[in-house]
Amino acid sequence: MRKKIIAGNWKMHKTYKEGIALVEDCIKLAEKEKIKEVEIIFCTPFIHLRKISKLTDNIKHINTGAQNCHWEEQGAFTGEISCSMIKSCGAAYVILGHSERRQYFNETHEQLTKKVTAALKHDLTPIFCCGEPLEIREANTHIELIGKQIRESLFHLDKEMITKVVIAYEPVWAIGTGKTATTEQAQEMHAFIRKTLAHHYDFETAESISILYGGSCKPSNAKELFSQPDVDGGLIGGAALQVEDFIALANSF
Ligand code: PEP
Repeated sequence: MRKKIIAGNWKMHKTYKEGIALVEDCIKLAEKEKIKEVEIIFCTPFIHLRKISKLTDNIKHINTGAQNCHWEEQGAFTGEISCSMIKSCGAAYVILGHSERRQYFNETHEQLTKKVTAALKHDLTPIFCCGEPLEIREANTHIELIGKQIRESLFHLDKEMITKVVIAYEPVWAIGTGKTATTEQAQEMHAFIRKTLAHHYDFETAESISILYGGSCKPSNAKELFSQPDVDGGLIGGAALQVEDFIALANSF
């Protein structure tokens, strides 16, 4: 059975104190709601990782993740963070290839390939993001682009390694816009991603990989999205900053 996942991408939000309070409240509410079957991940700014990893250390289905990493072990890369540093804070995941990083920080597929490899080497699970901007969707070339993003940054991995990756399909036009993909659009793309994986690896491998949807996912639309056969959960931006919304999302399967 594939893992059901709700991963919160805090982006550049929350001071240290605010972040800790948010997680403490989420843990309390998740306990009250008896959420056990869904993996909840807090992808926080680097400053929160150590403390929040300690708070979630004894809770099997709650984990932490970073939002980026560098591919080198160490060195003169001012402002960057290595996978071993992230791992040493207790994190289990790292978001890679988010559209904001591709767009504002010119992240390329060559860099992403190296980041994916580095993350796996350090036993960090990459949450690898792919997604098309609006003009590509309107030109009806989104399927080609997503296939290319997956092939270019993930297909260097062997079968054993690819099963350790989580994929997030995030149409760029839906991120932070309040505009969600329809369930049909989401399912179509998730099924396409799984088919692409099955074609390159094999059916069992593709079936074992969790594919998350991201883009204005909220409690009011999550149930329908998560009911789709190839949608295994969500990568959540805005709604991950609110305790009730985030935990309601984890309760939407
Ligand atoms: C995201 O940034 O990954 C995201 C899905 O954001 P939002 O939920 O705010 O659209």
